Amino acid sequence: MTAFRAGIGYDAHRLVAGRPLIIGGVTIPHDRGLAGHSDADVAAHAIADALLGAAGAGDLGAHFPDSDPANEGISSLEILRRIASILSARGCRIVNADVTVVAEAPRLGPHIPAMRRALAAALGIAEGDVSVKAKTTEGMGFEGAREGISAHAVALIEMPS
Ligand SMILES: [Zn+2]
Repeated sequence: MTAFRAGIGYDAHRLVAGRPLIIGGVTIPHDRGLAGHSDADVAAHAIADALLGAAGAGDLGAHFPDSDPANEGISSLEILRRIASILSARGCRIVNADVTVVAEAPRLGPHIPAMRRALAAALGIAEGDVSVKAKTTEGMGFEGAREGISAHAVALIEMPS
């Protein structure tokens, strides 16, 4: 019998001047970017935690600690590639990932196809198995105040039989 496991992931980073804005592996023109030890890609990080959660393999902080200088400025697509390897080594197959990015600005819609391509390539799955959605909060909360951007993700994996 085939067993499936779902996982959930969440991430948020602060918007600051002087950083590129990278979401879903895509650099998006904007006057500010997300602050963080790595490239602070909220969509990739939420998906990474969803996948690790589905596999019961801990979380992103455990695998890529901020305290490790090797993780400074690391591309989050590289993080996803390594997580795909961790899952593959355990015999797990990624079925799909779905992420919602919450941002008041900039408009993310035009960048979604490129995000899906980049995330799917990093995970080694088909573009159709990665979904990216963008939402605003109608001005409410830290995302609405443009203080930061957050992302929520779910992922499904097939466990080894
Ligand atoms: Zn993050």
